[in-house]
Amino acid sequence: MTTKFDAIMPIVPRPDVVFVAGAGSWITDEQGHSYLDFVQGWAVNALGHGHPAIIEALRRQAAQLINPSPAFYNRPMIDLADRLIANSVFDQVFFANNGAEANEGAVKLARKWGALHRDGAYKIVTFENGFHGRTLAMMSASGKPAWETLFEPKTPGFIKVPYNDLDAVAAAIDDRTVAVMLEPIQGEAGVIPATTAFAKGLRKLTREKRLLLIFDEVQTGIGRTGSLFAYQHLDVEPDIMTLGKGVGGGVPLAALLTTKAVSCFEPGDQGGTYNGNPLVCAVGLAVLDTLLRPGILEEVHARGRYLSQGLSAVAKRRGLGKVRGRGLLLAVDTLQRNATAIAADAFEQGLLINAPRPDTLRFMPALTVSEVEIDRMLEILEVILSFGDA
Ligand code: PLP
Repeated sequence: MTTKFDAIMPIVPRPDVVFVAGAGSWITDEQGHSYLDFVQGWAVNALGHGHPAIIEALRRQAAQLINPSPAFYNRPMIDLADRLIANSVFDQVFFANNGAEANEGAVKLARKWGALHRDGAYKIVTFENGFHGRTLAMMSASGKPAWETLFEPKTPGFIKVPYNDLDAVAAAIDDRTVAVMLEPIQGEAGVIPATTAFAKGLRKLTREKRLLLIFDEVQTGIGRTGSLFAYQHLDVEPDIMTLGKGVGGGVPLAALLTTKAVSCFEPGDQGGTYNGNPLVCAVGLAVLDTLLRPGILEEVHARGRYLSQGLSAVAKRRGLGKVRGRGLLLAVDTLQRNATAIAADAFEQGLLINAPRPDTLRFMPALTVSEVEIDRMLEILEVILSFGDA
């Protein structure tokens, strides 16, 4: 028997619901049911659904110019690159279409730099449970246990070690190693932050060994943690940073940023038909300009604290673990309870939350989420967690 969804490849278990509209922290299905969205497209809708700045940027740019080809400059590409450079420690940008592609670019750049400056060194130390995307090379770079035997053979050159273990990194380095690549907070692993001591230790070690330090900020970048980039909290300056998700506010935009000293691509090394197209770059500019308005990142920080405190109170009352994460990227362990089942119950109650692991719930609302919406989410969560209580 065929169903109305049979033409779609089943890449993920999906509920029998079709979403048709969104506004801020709310998303509505074809039947007119509204859901409070604390997933936001897996943390991509930095400004929530249907933000006027994004709608206006799309409307204006679509009417003006959608794609002159990546072989020509366009104004939004230049302006967005300038804005990113002005607000970070980097000097140059390559735009990509998603996080995996930006990370592929980071690996290519590191290997090119290794060919030019380190006698062909190419190996990259990455981390157990890390997540860098779903291309073949990024599946090889990632440390997701379920991927270990998938789509063999893997791309060689990635050496995986335990996260937050500086000695393990030092032991994995040899004269063919060119870089260390990590998420400043491991998102898909269940929101596991790098300690400041680990991040600073990595910076010192990579400098001593003449290695590049690559931060994958696809999930943590663009205000998610309460500062524009997570490297700022850690007080560590990487050589390469990748962005995705939030930078596009929901449209496919990602970026690879680096310093003058490392920027060594030559014409022909890197590219792509849609890369840096004005339509998505205009949206990126709208996202950045909105978040950079005075006081906005402070508000994200305050909302993160409010969510963290509220979650901690619910967790204490309902026997969950300690809340962890930063800004509006938070998680809590469900201990004996099944997080996937809790997320499914939440869906039935009109709340979207996500379970990156069977015993972890993750919260990544719009950066524009209000205290009232946080309170509502906590109320629904508490009701779900009380299911089964006598
Ligand atoms: N890197 C990190 C840290 C991520 O969290 C993700 C996606 O979840 C990716 C890379 C891959 O990004 P994309 O799905 O846009 O390719």
